Amino acid sequence: MTINGNVSFWYAEAGVPKQRPALSGSIDVDVCIVGGGFTGLWTAYYLKQADPTLRIAVVEQRFAGYGASGRNGGWLFGGIAGSRRRYANTHGRQAVLDLQREMNGCVDEVIRVAAHESIDADIVKAGTVEVAYTPAQLKRLQVYVAGEQEWGETDHEMLSADETMSRINVANTLGGSHSPNGARIQPAKLVRGLSDAVERLGVTIYEGTSVEEIRPGVALTQQGSVRAPIILRATEGFTAGIKGLRRLWLPMNSSMIVTEPLPADVWSQIGWSGCETLGDLAHAYCYAQRTADGRIAIGGRGVPYRYGSQTDNDGSTQPETVDALREILVRLFPSTKDVAIDHAWSGVLGVPRDWCSTVGLDHSTGLGWAGGYVGHGVATTNLAGRTLRDLVLRQDTELTRLPWVGRRVRKWEPEPFRWLGVQTMYAAYRAADNQERGGRQETSPIATVADKVSGRY
Ligand SMILES: Cc1cc2nc3c(=O)[nH]c(=O)nc-3n(C[C@H](O)[C@H](O)[C@H](O)COP(=O)(O)OP(=O)(O)OC[C@H]3O[C@@H](n4cnc5c(N)ncnc54)[C@H](O)[C@@H]3O)c2cc1C
Repeated sequence: MTINGNVSFWYAEAGVPKQRPALSGSIDVDVCIVGGGFTGLWTAYYLKQADPTLRIAVVEQRFAGYGASGRNGGWLFGGIAGSRRRYANTHGRQAVLDLQREMNGCVDEVIRVAAHESIDADIVKAGTVEVAYTPAQLKRLQVYVAGEQEWGETDHEMLSADETMSRINVANTLGGSHSPNGARIQPAKLVRGLSDAVERLGVTIYEGTSVEEIRPGVALTQQGSVRAPIILRATEGFTAGIKGLRRLWLPMNSSMIVTEPLPADVWSQIGWSGCETLGDLAHAYCYAQRTADGRIAIGGRGVPYRYGSQTDNDGSTQPETVDALREILVRLFPSTKDVAIDHAWSGVLGVPRDWCSTVGLDHSTGLGWAGGYVGHGVATTNLAGRTLRDLVLRQDTELTRLPWVGRRVRKWEPEPFRWLGVQTMYAAYRAADNQERGGRQETSPIATVADKVSGRY
């Protein structure tokens, strides 16, 4: 029977941790970090190392790693979380190249810290394979790879259909690409290991403590106030739940399923011995990994958005989303048609109105933030953590000059327009994907219109 929710399969495998004590009464610290996902934890990690005298509190509503950081697809990759064109419009080409260099560096930096802190997170750095299985997808892939190379990613290369299938045998492959700047991780193992490392450094993590409102100098909870001259918001897809921030970032759902461990004869048909992360070029794209214990974990959009910016209940996922993901799995790998789905879950990621991630600290209020990673946060959170460290310490560094620093955009539309907009966009993407699977050679104009209207690209 498929387990639905329970946060994620990654915790079913690694074990749901015992919750740390909650805040009990008001406290004074130097830095308060709201949210114990990768963003909050990386920030605490680097900040405490840079200045061990700082009193840092991480305040987390459930447990560290409860959010997307413990539920994601495990793609640790150097892709920029946002549109290069938009960052270049405001900061120029060189600034975007600098951002890309730092993003690629994040992959190795996360691997370095994991090794240094003895965190075994099933990491394999074998890069990312993108696969095209319709003519329109293949055209988009060629444009995408040419764009990557134009932006300095010269080691991102096209693969022929045979080369792609010799790595991962996806049915009906017409071509693919490979980028070396990516690694597979087990997210819950990484985020739990990181939270322990942060605690060892002397940071206090208060769990089971929800921040209701953030004001300059204070974060308010039911259990007491955290007074601090610097308060950093690291709540990503949950940000809408904090007073006054409902329309800042849209909580977009992403859902995943994981198979039972696959028998050897199925793996011999699929290949995938390199454990690259795998994605496709559909408009409503999927992402997948081969897990350390021989399963396929695959994710996609499912029901993209819940009315009123609501989030899920501990990862529980609609049955139609589970069916849709299973259909994608079998379409990609027909030999999985009889395998059991062991677990399904969902999570939320934060999407700003311009689909570009942002990090910043306003020294006049002491309020900082990082997020809006639009589903690219596993590596970007590490850059956010190091950037927030420099901003808090008032250091002018290469990181604080990157084009995503201090970026602010307008809010999302009020309901029902927000809901209608996202529903329309994903209906357009699904229709376009259906047309393309039916043999359409070019990208469907409705998908292009959806991109333009949403501002996604
Ligand atoms: C299903 C799924 C698959 C994904 N796959 C990938 C992938 O393969 N690669 C990739 O790069 N990205 C992926 N992402 C995105 C990536 O996981 C996120 O961008 C990243 O984990 C964000 O980290 P974070 O710390 O900013 O947010 P989160 O991990 O969501 O952490 C925010 C934390 O804040 C806490 N919190 C929220 N509100 C409050 C409050 N009011 N008070 C106190 N605490 C609060 C939450 O409980 C949570 O623990 C995926 C996301 C999802 C949902």
